[in-house]
Amino acid sequence: MSHKKKVLTGFLVLSMSAFTYSSCNKHLEKKADLVLLNGTIYTIDENRPEAEALAIERDRFVFVGNNAGAKKYITEKTTVIDLKDKTVTPGLIDSHVHLEWYGRYQEEVHLHGTTNFDDVLKIVEQHVKRIEPGEWIIGAGWDHEDWPDKKLPTHERLSAISPQNPVLLERDGAHSVLVNQTAMNLAGIDEKTKDIKGGQIIRDSKTGAPTGIFVDRAKTLISSIKPQPSYDDRVRYILNAVDSCISVGLTSVHDAGVFNEPSLAYQMIDIFKVLAEKGKLKNRIYAMLGGNEVYLDNYFQYPPMIGYGNHHLTFRSIKIALDGAMGSRGALLLDEYSDMPGHRGSVVTESDAIKKIAIDAVNKDFQLNVHAIGDSASRLSLDLFEEVDADYPIHERRFRIEHLQLISLEDIPRLEKLGVIPSMQAYHAISDMNWAETRVGKERVKGNYAWRKVLDSGVIIAGGSDIPVVPINPLWSIYASVTRRDIDGLPEEGWYPEERMSREEALKSYTIWGAYAAFEEKLKGSIEVGKLADLVVFSKDITKIAAEELLTTKALLTIVGGDIVYKRKEFE
Ligand SMILES: [Zn+2]
Repeated sequence: MSHKKKVLTGFLVLSMSAFTYSSCNKHLEKKADLVLLNGTIYTIDENRPEAEALAIERDRFVFVGNNAGAKKYITEKTTVIDLKDKTVTPGLIDSHVHLEWYGRYQEEVHLHGTTNFDDVLKIVEQHVKRIEPGEWIIGAGWDHEDWPDKKLPTHERLSAISPQNPVLLERDGAHSVLVNQTAMNLAGIDEKTKDIKGGQIIRDSKTGAPTGIFVDRAKTLISSIKPQPSYDDRVRYILNAVDSCISVGLTSVHDAGVFNEPSLAYQMIDIFKVLAEKGKLKNRIYAMLGGNEVYLDNYFQYPPMIGYGNHHLTFRSIKIALDGAMGSRGALLLDEYSDMPGHRGSVVTESDAIKKIAIDAVNKDFQLNVHAIGDSASRLSLDLFEEVDADYPIHERRFRIEHLQLISLEDIPRLEKLGVIPSMQAYHAISDMNWAETRVGKERVKGNYAWRKVLDSGVIIAGGSDIPVVPINPLWSIYASVTRRDIDGLPEEGWYPEERMSREEALKSYTIWGAYAAFEEKLKGSIEVGKLADLVVFSKDITKIAAEELLTTKALLTIVGGDIVYKRKEFE
């Protein structure tokens, strides 16, 4: 553009805005539906980090600043809330949840916190008494690492207490399951059943008979025969999960794997769409289409859907798992597990298949989010991203690595180079820290949940929980990020404390960085004029209280698009 033209354009813009102002003065009238006064508002806006008041008109912030300024927006129709110095942050964004699974999980048998196999059996036994023969018992949350002998259980005692009901119990993290004989019979599984690619059937070393433990893809041998949820079941799971989200201040969530299985009568993406249309989604969902390469044909049947139902539903990304999890030794490592010689984990989806999906994703305007937990999986993801990038630049696509639990230190700078966003779940670090080093040893552990090294390399971290595997409360994740201590406060100095995040970084990972990971940083993630009016009011100042107090701090009020979607009794 020539200099002359630039000046002319500038003049035109100036005179246009002067015209607009004088003739449409009436429309610039200051009014708001909702005004919040007397707060400690942390905006996450670098230009105005703190404020004491704000005004909301329809679904947007129209003013952020001091009380006097906000009061100018009050009319007789305005709802005014006195915050009484309570703390406000932007609505929190959890970048990795499983909504349907969370909702379903609330209705299942809970085995979290069991400290031995006998406890698990007792809980199942009580359940057997309450249900009809033939009904399935689905449970989750056991972890043999928390048991005295740390040995994987086998099915015999479980089969004995539940001879008529098929039982399926997921290990914490869901990468393996324990099932009883009835379930195996229904699935037609015996010692002749062949292993399945990307998974493992644990067998008796002498007889070769399955012990009841099925890892990663081998789980489908059982899960494929359990009864499918109905449409109403799935709607109920989602609505209940969303209610839990807003009660802890989560105004947006990234659903890390919405299943589009051909076998299911109703696709989850359609369920989300109907709920968004009816205005029934109280928070905002960024859905990643999940599955594996078997469902490849289904991946791209929907074009990206951005900001559907008043910005309550966006669907423009795909999640695919490269490896398994560290707990079940399914995470893919470059060298053998320190506590299992010769074993390096398992590939869930070959990187060539993922590469093909990545190219399709670039061509069809989708983001690709690869689940990678082991250092080999992290490297394979970066390798395939790099290969794709050579022909189809991915920097603007904001590809993500979900988890990135273990990364080789030399691979860390490649994230920034490729514009790849690590999506990491802080709570996993404190739930894994008692055994993580046993798995990978002293040297490799330096790249385990290496938040500081990752942030210092120049990238952001999208923060998340991975519910229902861990607690839903975002303040618990923030606590984990800033302390690297478990909820009992141990170890006092924190587990590899040099990798901690600052309070500000942890908050950003749950606000503006989460928004960026979903291409939504211009729409949400901070309290700024023009952005969606999503916010949370907390009972305590989460930037100043002792870290331990984060665990007891409550969300008092949650606002999504200017609507109060959750209010705690104390706030009335
Ligand atoms: Zn997950």
